[in-house]
Amino acid sequence: MSILDTKIEFLKGVGPKRGSLLNQELSVYSFLDLLTFFPYRYVDRSQIYTISQINNFDTDIQIIGYVKNKKEVGVGRKKRLFIDFVDSTGSVNILFFKGLNWLNKSIQIGARYLIFGKPQKYGTKISFIHPEMELLKNSSKTPTYNLYPIYHSTEKLHSIGLNSKGISKLSAQLLSLLKDDVLESFSFNMIRDYNFLERSKAFHEIHFPTDTKTLSQAIYRFKFEELFFLQLALLKQKFLRRQKFQSFVFEIVGDKFNNFYHNHLGFSLTNAQKKVMKEIRQDVLTGFQMNRLLQGDVGSGKTIVAIMSIILAHDNGFQSCLMAPTEILANQHFNNISKIAYNIGLKVVLLTGKTKSNIKKQILSDLSNNLIDVVVGTHALIQENVRFQKLGLVIIDEQHKFGVSQRAQLWKNEKIMPHVLVMTATPIPRTLAMTAYGDLDVSVIDELPPGRKPVLTSHKYDKEIKGVFEFVYHELKKGKQVYIVYPLIEESKMLDYKNLQDGYENVKAIFETKGFKISILHGRLKKEEKELEMKKFLDKETQIMVATTVIEVGVDVPNATIMIIQNAEKFGLSQLHQLRGRVGRGSDKSYCFLVSSNKLTNDAKIRLKTMVNAHDGFEIAEVDLKLRGPGDILGTRQSGLLNLKLSSLVKDHAILNSARKEAQNLLESDPDLSHPSNRNIRHFFLKHHANKLKWGSVS
Ligand code: ADP
Ligand code: MG
Repeated sequence: MSILDTKIEFLKGVGPKRGSLLNQELSVYSFLDLLTFFPYRYVDRSQIYTISQINNFDTDIQIIGYVKNKKEVGVGRKKRLFIDFVDSTGSVNILFFKGLNWLNKSIQIGARYLIFGKPQKYGTKISFIHPEMELLKNSSKTPTYNLYPIYHSTEKLHSIGLNSKGISKLSAQLLSLLKDDVLESFSFNMIRDYNFLERSKAFHEIHFPTDTKTLSQAIYRFKFEELFFLQLALLKQKFLRRQKFQSFVFEIVGDKFNNFYHNHLGFSLTNAQKKVMKEIRQDVLTGFQMNRLLQGDVGSGKTIVAIMSIILAHDNGFQSCLMAPTEILANQHFNNISKIAYNIGLKVVLLTGKTKSNIKKQILSDLSNNLIDVVVGTHALIQENVRFQKLGLVIIDEQHKFGVSQRAQLWKNEKIMPHVLVMTATPIPRTLAMTAYGDLDVSVIDELPPGRKPVLTSHKYDKEIKGVFEFVYHELKKGKQVYIVYPLIEESKMLDYKNLQDGYENVKAIFETKGFKISILHGRLKKEEKELEMKKFLDKETQIMVATTVIEVGVDVPNATIMIIQNAEKFGLSQLHQLRGRVGRGSDKSYCFLVSSNKLTNDAKIRLKTMVNAHDGFEIAEVDLKLRGPGDILGTRQSGLLNLKLSSLVKDHAILNSARKEAQNLLESDPDLSHPSNRNIRHFFLKHHANKLKWGSVS
């Protein structure tokens, strides 16, 4: 047992009472927990900046200069003291909201001050809000301070003397006890190659930095460590599964595939599609189960990839199954695949909750006798306890809608695992995909078929809606169709439905008199009603579809060329992107109007601007990640894994990339970490990360 496993209450200066509060408030139970309870920021009083040097808005810094002017502005509670502060390189604003009388009396125009606080940027101007101000004698030398750590604390801890300073004292006490107790986690080679600080030194530096340079080395080391071992755990899991789950080998590219490819495809594959097909073909040759996530923007041509994989399975004597999250989508897939299947002689059926029971019975029997090559369906595929004779490939569309265990239900009756291809049109930034789906292989179609025109997107305010509707009228007269979408944040909120209903009445009043018909679609309608409205729109019986986000996923009506999103400020970026993807699917020019009120938060402004300027889903996803952070994007289950102490999947791309590469190389050269040179890594991994292996057997 290491000294680091000692209970925290036994550290000098802690004791039972403080110990139990440290447990409760900070989850610090052991010496090790305290050692890895890192400062969340540092105060840099080791140097003085000039105003022109200010480019970091994360830490408190110091500047020295003169008060050029000061004035009180505003009245009553809005009153503030406004100071124009200068040095030889520029000027900043200093603002105070409280204690104005006293401050106004004591701050002298023309006097020299040391300012200490966190700079903020508004436009091009830098401001300090309520900084510390220390009057300096004109002659006096610059005072010197240091770089010191700030720890998170809580009210309860404060009350027993464990504020940031108190915690820092405990860290010092702990560090003084440690001799050879901090074990290195990296191999000698890694330390040499990356010039890492030694682990033990890095702990000293992260708690008590000597200077900013060694501090960043220490932070870099621990970020790398965190991401490296996380990736090692995920990749190791992938390796293990490879060994465990044998699957079928599809080595034949047969007549059907060639016939389809040469005679029925009707276009050439994009390079991205070719690359993905190659990746899939390699996977199904290995003898182990394919587990591949296929990401590609709406309209990037994932369906063709799915179909070709199905034909490949068929040429090798296997059945396939394709599961979609909604009835509408299952139907769509069925229609697409049927056309192709007819040409090349594949038997395809549709199985959903609506399939009549006598037909269902026949399908189930045919599937088990291998008389059906492909079954397309919804959840029903899981519920019906379907048995295949030779299931070789499972394709799951729009992966977000299915849970992990639900997916596994699909092949619970199989002795040998089928290959799995999961398709999603919600692009996830690479860094996030690497971590959240670290044990899936990820393929990306990052190129649209040639000739697609980006959907012309503009942002309009509510008061401009009349102009938008005039434009709509002209397009309707040309025979085009239109979506008008309202936000529905929660199914239960009556207000949202009222909003939708009012919108519907309004649209009706304007357009019905002009001879156009309007559909309405929302989550409260019965499934059959939804299908009916969708079908009417698809058949051009109605020209305008007023809807909530139920139309978000995958719906394909190529004749619809306008998407109007009402209260666009209330939607998240990925939703906006999905919604916009409903238009621009045919060859005609398409338009998207983001209609908002004029009260917009900063984030909302960024979202709308991003949508107007960007069309690539991955670019949009990157912005989304920056605005919302990884947890909110992935949902709760995966985000537990993303409880990273130091590193950020948003900011630490570069470190993540090298850590992953390093982990990959390591596992390739030494899968069991048994080589003596990797002893440190093995030891650390087993002690701290082996439990993560249980996490997320994704399929
Ligand atoms: P996704 O499922 O990725 O949203 P689809 O597979 O439905 O996209 O493809 C959208 C449309 O683009 C379909 O009509 C499809 O036939 C067409 N398509 C796919 N790949 C190509 C290509 N390489 N060249 C031209 N058109 C393509
Ligand atoms: Mg699709």
